[in-house]
Amino acid sequence: MFSSQLTAASAAFQAMEAENRALRARIAELEADPLPPATGGASTETIPTEADYRLRPADIRLDVCVGRTLKGNEDKRWSPAIYRETQCGGKIEEDGLCTRCLKKAAKGAAAAAADAAVTPTYYGWSGRVTEEPFRWQHMLGTAWAVHAAQTGKLKWLGSDSASAIKAAEKEAAKAAAKAAKAAEKEAAKEAAAAAKAAKAAAKAAIKAEANRELMLIGGRIYMIKGRELYEYDTTLDAAGTFVGFLDSATTA
Ligand SMILES: [Zn+2]
Repeated sequence: MFSSQLTAASAAFQAMEAENRALRARIAELEADPLPPATGGASTETIPTEADYRLRPADIRLDVCVGRTLKGNEDKRWSPAIYRETQCGGKIEEDGLCTRCLKKAAKGAAAAAADAAVTPTYYGWSGRVTEEPFRWQHMLGTAWAVHAAQTGKLKWLGSDSASAIKAAEKEAAKAAAKAAKAAEKEAAKEAAAAAKAAKAAAKAAIKAEANRELMLIGGRIYMIKGRELYEYDTTLDAAGTFVGFLDSATTA
């Protein structure tokens, strides 16, 4: 029972591998004969290639998580959208991956092992930037992209396609909202600092008032602030000319 299941699984895997190999072989042909030209897009625009969506090996950092991130990296100049990879960059927990990526990888692998029709991508696992993308990923050069281009399902629309314009507008609105929020935060911070300074000044004024004291020395009234002795201005009820320090004045 177990061995027959194993044989079936192995055969399915081999068939999948063969299909993958055949599709990968088509990549070379497609590179010599590029993807279909722009349909409705700006004719002057250069159509990106597989390399434009991959990190250059020199740019990959091995001291942080090498999990591949695709979320939010859609290039909607293609239909369907093509993804550009970025590196997770989280703190490595084990085996070059962060805690989150380890979890996603395990969940994705378990699901794919249980059902061949399921791809780990469904579980948010997009592989490692140090490895080739999965065959089903919506990135240029994968078996999926080659097949989709062959069958006309993958189309280059260019920057002036409705979905690309909408995506660019959304991106601009997002950036504007972020800038506004940052400015608001900065203004609130400044207001809080000003309020704090005003409070400190008021406190200092009260303290100064509390610290002053009048003293009769040699028949004259002086105002004392700490150790400083001033003439006392009776009309203004304030310190007048500085006379000297208390020790020397009293001993004089
Ligand atoms: Zn990660």
